[in-house]
Amino acid sequence: MHIQDDNSRIEESIVQKPTKRPSKTTLGILITAIFGLLKFSKLTVLAKFLFTLLKASKFAGTFLSMALTIVLYAQIYSWLFAVGFVIVIFVHEMGHYVTSKKLGLDVSAPTFIPFLGAFIRMKSMPKSVKEEAITAIGGPAAGAFVTLVCLGIYSLTAAPYWAGLAYVSALINLFNLLPFGFLDGGRISKAISPLIWVIGLILCVILIWKLHFYILVLILIFGIFEIISMYRNKSETAQYLSVEPGFRLAIGTSYLLLLVLLVILMMYSLDISTALQSVQASLFR
Ligand SMILES: [Zn+2]
Repeated sequence: MHIQDDNSRIEESIVQKPTKRPSKTTLGILITAIFGLLKFSKLTVLAKFLFTLLKASKFAGTFLSMALTIVLYAQIYSWLFAVGFVIVIFVHEMGHYVTSKKLGLDVSAPTFIPFLGAFIRMKSMPKSVKEEAITAIGGPAAGAFVTLVCLGIYSLTAAPYWAGLAYVSALINLFNLLPFGFLDGGRISKAISPLIWVIGLILCVILIWKLHFYILVLILIFGIFEIISMYRNKSETAQYLSVEPGFRLAIGTSYLLLLVLLVILMMYSLDISTALQSVQASLFR
């Protein structure tokens, strides 16, 4: 109560001066109010326009989930790192998106799931393992490109942030090339030889057991289910997996080259003396 009284007294003293010339003040207030309203309505029109644009846009979900992921990551890491990290994942996903579109497959724009990554939904399934492998390799290929871009910017700016981001980017893309299950590597290696999944399976188990990569448990379970269903529908699987030897060689070579390139990029960015420190610095401020 007392506080309120004091406040009203202060307000009175402030208002006192202008009340000497009421007409002008009223007019002023009116004009300001009209302009304010106009500005406000302009803003709401703009906001409405942006909202409709976002709603109509195929990428609305992408940008919203991207923003949410950045905000959540920024609670753990630095803002700068959170933004870089999410952009690196976005470029990887766009690699899948563009290659799928080029093949004429109906795919959704990428959606981010904080702390898990991102995905694109396939509305029409690839007709052959060939198509599946091409859409799969698009992601890590774009990922290798963005890693190179980060290292390029590092070489120009010498800012440790870029070396750190290049390291993380190479690591994420290498992880995705693990030849098992619905991981990109799993979908690529199916076109080379499904037997590569045995190596992938062993790698998965080692990574879970030794490095506690528990996210792989999910991939392991889904992968085993896929093996069972492939085995059950042997004839359809055989038809799906048949590819011409030329393609097998091409995709196999691309897969190996991508693996080698990403390992070199990862080791190089780690080798840049400050890289590890910058990763730690950008991770834990
Ligand atoms: Zn991918």
